[in-house]
Amino acid sequence: MSTLNTARHAKAATELENGNGPLVKLLLQEKVLTDRQVEYAARVRNKLETPRPLLEVLKELDLINDDQIKKAVKDSRMPMCIGSILMEMGYIKPDDLQRAFGIQKSEKKGYKIGEILLEKGFIDEQLLLEVLSVQLGFSQVEPEFTRIDPKLFSRAPARWYETHDVIPLQKQDDGILIAFADPLDKQDLEAVKQVFGDKFIAAVARRNAIKLAVGKCHSSNLKQDISASDENAIIRLADELLLAAVQRDASDIHIEPLKDCMRVRFRQDGMLIHFQDFPAKILPALTNRIKVLCEVDITEKRRHQGGRFYFDYPGGHVDLRVSFYVTVNGEKIVLRLLNRKSVLLDIKDIGLPGKIQQRFLEDALCLPSGIILITGPTGSGKTTTVYSCINHINDPQTSIITAEEPVEYVIDGIAQCSINPKINLTFEETLRHIVRQDPDVIVIGEIRDQFSAEIAVQAALTGHKVLTTFHTEDSIGGLVRLLNMNIEPFLIASSVVSIMAQRLLRRICPHCAAPYKPTAADLQRIGYSAHDIGDAHFQKGRGCGHCQYTGYKGRVGIFELLILDEQVRNAIIAQKPSHEIREISIESTGLITLLEDGLVKAAAGQTTIDEVLRSLPRLHKPRALPELQRLLEGSA
Ligand SMILES: [Zn+2]
Repeated sequence: MSTLNTARHAKAATELENGNGPLVKLLLQEKVLTDRQVEYAARVRNKLETPRPLLEVLKELDLINDDQIKKAVKDSRMPMCIGSILMEMGYIKPDDLQRAFGIQKSEKKGYKIGEILLEKGFIDEQLLLEVLSVQLGFSQVEPEFTRIDPKLFSRAPARWYETHDVIPLQKQDDGILIAFADPLDKQDLEAVKQVFGDKFIAAVARRNAIKLAVGKCHSSNLKQDISASDENAIIRLADELLLAAVQRDASDIHIEPLKDCMRVRFRQDGMLIHFQDFPAKILPALTNRIKVLCEVDITEKRRHQGGRFYFDYPGGHVDLRVSFYVTVNGEKIVLRLLNRKSVLLDIKDIGLPGKIQQRFLEDALCLPSGIILITGPTGSGKTTTVYSCINHINDPQTSIITAEEPVEYVIDGIAQCSINPKINLTFEETLRHIVRQDPDVIVIGEIRDQFSAEIAVQAALTGHKVLTTFHTEDSIGGLVRLLNMNIEPFLIASSVVSIMAQRLLRRICPHCAAPYKPTAADLQRIGYSAHDIGDAHFQKGRGCGHCQYTGYKGRVGIFELLILDEQVRNAIIAQKPSHEIREISIESTGLITLLEDGLVKAAAGQTTIDEVLRSLPRLHKPRALPELQRLLEGSA
């Protein structure tokens, strides 16, 4: 069989030298091209000084286009050798393909040509995927993060999927969606036909992603056998889930009842990622186990509940805050992993650009009094910033006191209070007492209403430094919110020192980062013309084992710092509309907007343009990159 294949490929290789590869043959067979057209293109090609693939010449002569190729591949469903196609497109050299065939012949049975080309480095996996998806029209899927129908999966043993590098995903209207590492491979296609029938839609995925998904489904299928009455198995499962979340550095675990299964998802780097599905019948037992851990009422199933517990594991422990929320399908449990990293970041390490950091320290944090506001939505890193600020000003001469909900890091030398409404230790009550503690610095976890805003303003006006957070889109939004809380404009103008808005964007995975050229559409979305970019080094992660094929690993902080100067204060007192205050801030205080800081960090290859456009408010047209880089550079 393999000798026959090799002989056929060798023949294909010589044919290619003359012109016809599998795609051109297919196009002839499907009557998209005629023999005369191909002969003409071959003559044109022979006159070229530098050799070019025939397919490219055919495209350039307008005899064929990409859509026609995609349609022919789709309509014919003809198996083809991916190696020959790559050669036909000019992506690999005939010699390399011959060597790959040689390896296939001499090494283990069933070693696929696509696999060899990848392993021996003859081709890059991203390119292979692009050829299959962009040029040949197979849709690209991420089986690791897709919900896989366990019934479909159980049609074949795990080993069979591993041999063929395929995995079924879901039943769709027009057939079963199946992910292939090589959707053109004859043997894999035949095998899939036997198990799933003729009616399937072939999609393409990374070989490793398929293997990972197969492994995951296999182990989850084994868990179908967990009995809800086997207490030890449930305890083990709870521990396994917690440990998996810790290992993945997840911030939250979502355990949710769906109609016919129990779904577990993790929030990693701010994105919710599907982990595993389990049989629905074990949810009540698992819920009980978690309720026992956080010592809440296990018989109460009709009301929302909340609790906390510690989880000890080999090498560490984690504090978990748990919420049980009653849904129509049963209780949904969310576990937040607190103080995951007990390392406190130095203010210099949170990601503030040099000049901004210098200004923040000199003109805000190190002033003796006034309100320093950190704003942003949940999960934007506000708490980390506040803690690094506290850490920066913490010294034996300073009295620092906090009211937090809850305390997330314990810092030595600081009087930290965790709000606990259960025992009537409310925010209001705590804030009333806080000023009587003779503090220099007051940290209020969050300004949530007029009362806490008034306390903050009063404390600042009486000579205290107040650090607090706020839920607003951007820095100017923070000012507007305060104004809307019926705080007198002159009080705001004389108490607020600075407002820093922030976000966390996903950082490009360093293991699979590759240069990226912004498309015309990207530029249009940003509002840039080509020369606004300067010599930026945009990047994009291709996806690899290190980042679970997301292309992202870890996060990067994006900041917008507003220091209130005379002109901004006057604008507040005059109650100017927010867009005017924004204009004044940008012109007079050198404010760099969130979008601008994001673009600068994307241009430095830290995050992607997609991430910037997805997460940052676009309230103002960004200035050109070279100008921004000039504004942000500086010695710190
Ligand atoms: Zn990666």
